[in-house]
Amino acid sequence: MSNQLSRRRFLRITGAGAGVAAAAGTLGSLPLLRAGRGPAEKGIRTVPTFCDICFWKCNAIATVRDGVLWKIEGNPDDPLSSGRLCPRGTGGVGAHFDPDRLRRPLLRASVRGEERWTEVTWDEALSHVAEKLRQIEKEHGPEAVALFSHGIGGTFLKHTLKAYGITNAAAPSFAQCRGPRDVGFELTFGEGVGSPERTDIRNARCLVLLGSHLGENMHNTQVQEFAEAVGSGATIIVADPRFSVAASKAKHYLPIRPGTDLALLLAWMNVLVREGLYDKDYVSAHGFGFEAFAAEITPFTPEWAWPETGIEPDVVRETAREMARYRPATLVHPGRHATWYGDDTQRSRAIALLNALLGSWGRKGGFYQPAAMDVPAYPYPPYPKSEKGKADNPGRKYPFASEAISTGIREATITGQPYPVKGWFVYATNLMQALPNEAETIRAIQNLDLLVVVDVIGSEIAGWADVVLPETTYLERYDDLNVELFREPFVALRQPVVEAPFDQKPNWWIARELALKLGLEAYYPWKTIEEYLDHRLKGAGLSLAHLQRRGLVRGGKPPVYYEEGVVPSFATPSKKIEFYSVPLKEAGFDPVPRYSRPEPGPPGSLRLLFGRAPVHSFSRTQTNPVLAQAMDENEVWVNADVARRAGLRTGDRVRLRNQDGVRSDFAVKVRATEAIRPDCVYLVHGFGHTSRMLRRAFGRGASDARLVTRYRTDPLMGGTGMNVNFVTLEPEA
Ligand code: SF4
Repeated sequence: MSNQLSRRRFLRITGAGAGVAAAAGTLGSLPLLRAGRGPAEKGIRTVPTFCDICFWKCNAIATVRDGVLWKIEGNPDDPLSSGRLCPRGTGGVGAHFDPDRLRRPLLRASVRGEERWTEVTWDEALSHVAEKLRQIEKEHGPEAVALFSHGIGGTFLKHTLKAYGITNAAAPSFAQCRGPRDVGFELTFGEGVGSPERTDIRNARCLVLLGSHLGENMHNTQVQEFAEAVGSGATIIVADPRFSVAASKAKHYLPIRPGTDLALLLAWMNVLVREGLYDKDYVSAHGFGFEAFAAEITPFTPEWAWPETGIEPDVVRETAREMARYRPATLVHPGRHATWYGDDTQRSRAIALLNALLGSWGRKGGFYQPAAMDVPAYPYPPYPKSEKGKADNPGRKYPFASEAISTGIREATITGQPYPVKGWFVYATNLMQALPNEAETIRAIQNLDLLVVVDVIGSEIAGWADVVLPETTYLERYDDLNVELFREPFVALRQPVVEAPFDQKPNWWIARELALKLGLEAYYPWKTIEEYLDHRLKGAGLSLAHLQRRGLVRGGKPPVYYEEGVVPSFATPSKKIEFYSVPLKEAGFDPVPRYSRPEPGPPGSLRLLFGRAPVHSFSRTQTNPVLAQAMDENEVWVNADVARRAGLRTGDRVRLRNQDGVRSDFAVKVRATEAIRPDCVYLVHGFGHTSRMLRRAFGRGASDARLVTRYRTDPLMGGTGMNVNFVTLEPEA
């Protein structure tokens, strides 16, 4: 079925792809974008590589015509993308031509936050960084330096900094995004859902989405499989305060009151247990603590949930029965961006438990068991040991955090506890938009002796940096291998397609040169990246030359379901699926999830929700000329009745003011629509840029991040629930 999925249906699900495809096709007619050097090369050549417009890492084939990057398409051999890129991937051409790219290393020439720079050579920039690192090491120890990074490109920088002695390396994707989901599933099944998620959407006969707006949230494999599931008649159930693209494909759309998802989940589980509709054989074979769980959820009937969620009891019962009808091929999607209300790990655990009742974990149409090829790591010397440990989670305040907490590092930087943090490296993540409460981030930055940003564009965090190091785009560099954990494992190569147009350098080169300046040559026995990659590949019986030609090597099709012979195993204390969690109980938390009502906002205010658009990734693509052509600003979705009462119409411009008096920097267009509840508004994340280095994106739309001055910290793992802010609308004169 997947290979028969038409491009048209794929684009119909994404809702915005056609514009991007057209834009990419016309790129050649945009002469101002030709930032390259115009090489003398003639003819057409193709280069396999993998995409970096988001973290999904789809395999692609780039075409170069007369020495100029022409187009990027899916690699037909790729099991992840099935040979089709999403609209952003197709528009990746624009990343190379983006006139707003950083071009040369920059040293700050004024106070922090004022974007005044001196261009320097790479030698000057890296010597300055190395000298500052030595100073910090001397005064505070190497643990006083932290790394924030996103994506595979941070691998070599992390290696250099670990060799230097850091202990604090965090990805905001944990505490600001997927962390609660991962921990909720780990507590229940003993392992997380991974990335790409192990969701078998293509075989699901019933798919349940809670706030997951597939089609707008463009995770390629999932969206294609969603289109397949819709096309083959799967029942789609969507609970979302906003009538999303996914909701438009649903048989049952539940316009749930924001913040009450856990109440709905408890009511669904109550129906399945009370009516005996759950998978009794599966639960009896694999479950632990089911009786205690069943007793805990007895009070949470659909009638109990109704005043909380706004969803009528009959609808809850009907949808629960529909889930049971198709089990185990009923998939309650775990979502990805899960940091909403501060109860997020318990909500994610409830999603895991609902799946467990339906018997979908490990089963076809539910969650498959992924596999990876065996590609040994490069044999580096061991990293230095630290007695101080990590700074992000002192005393295991958040006992179930399974990765570093980026906001914990920020807090340590502000307080100096448990020890001072004096240097930050930031790789490919715009912390000003990724972390909640910008004022806290700025306070932390003001305590630093060194802030280094390595990136392709000069986003807001670069505006605060002492040193800005311009990286090549993914189309101009090698990266580490992608050894994918997937239902069809593979190993893939990213390699340069064209040269960088200015004095940008690949991350591996930056990391290696810095290591040499720090006297860490022992950690870089390889001289070229090709040597490193070939060494790793040879360890797996492969060769760099082969991957340079083909882009990837596939590892076959191992069994992925219990039905195919995968042996169920659960890395929990009980070695079973934990319906009742003793570790949670012992740590003072609810062993079975419990609901608490979200706090309301000030009278007359609207809850601020945010999400994704199919043509942009976070706050990192708004200057990409191809993607900006498809969407160059966001809008604020406002319920039509609310808008009418406020005298607002679609297209009017407003500023948003939050409960703490913070106002959006720029005005944003109103989208007055019946497709959102009257108690909330919605913005696509990533707009409203204030960095003057982002000329194309500056001042366009409103930044949700700027308005997220409050957050509720998940007590289990330190995630920051950010859907707890409220705004009013102020018409722009
Ligand atoms: S999902 Fe889209 S942007 Fe992300 S890697 Fe795949 S093609 Fe690129």
